Amino acid sequence: MNKKFIRAIFPGSFDPITNGHLDVIERGRKLFDELIIAIGRSPIKNPLFSPEERVEMITELIANMPRVSAESFDGLTVEYAKTKKADVILRGLRSLTDVQYEFKLAMTNRSVAGIETVFIMTSAEYGFTSSTLIREIASLGGDISNLIPQSIYNRLKKRTKGL
Ligand code: ADP
Repeated sequence: MNKKFIRAIFPGSFDPITNGHLDVIERGRKLFDELIIAIGRSPIKNPLFSPEERVEMITELIANMPRVSAESFDGLTVEYAKTKKADVILRGLRSLTDVQYEFKLAMTNRSVAGIETVFIMTSAEYGFTSSTLIREIASLGGDISNLIPQSIYNRLKKRTKGL
């Protein structure tokens, strides 16, 4: 039987990307033939990093991952998924709060666009890691070096200096 080629998008804000996101990417890329990390330009009002910076930061981190790429997109995730001919939306889950939110999102996306969402559970050590928390702790001078890649840590330190 011929196996269908499966293309997934992993949409999010990634402001900045964390080890939790990378964990989802590492495991997700083994499930799909192609994985596109899709950086939403619209969701957050005052991002710490511009969409272009986020694409650059992620592209560096996935340089050694074949069939994985990163780009930014405008507007609705389902519209973007259609233009990319994606079969699946990949999302990560950390907690029951995530489940509640993601459940609604996945149901809506399936009913409006017929697209399936596949979830990957976080690794226990990243269960509490979020970009929001990383930005907050970094701006207060806290140590978050074990929750984000070194390259992101360096950029974050520079960016949050004057905050
Ligand atoms: P969004 O604003 O769309 O939630 P994020 O960049 O915060 O964008 O997250 C993108 C996806 O990654 C979401 O599905 C989110 O649940 C998931 N995610 C974020 N942090 C983690 C983590 N530590 N472990 C697993 N999944 C995560």
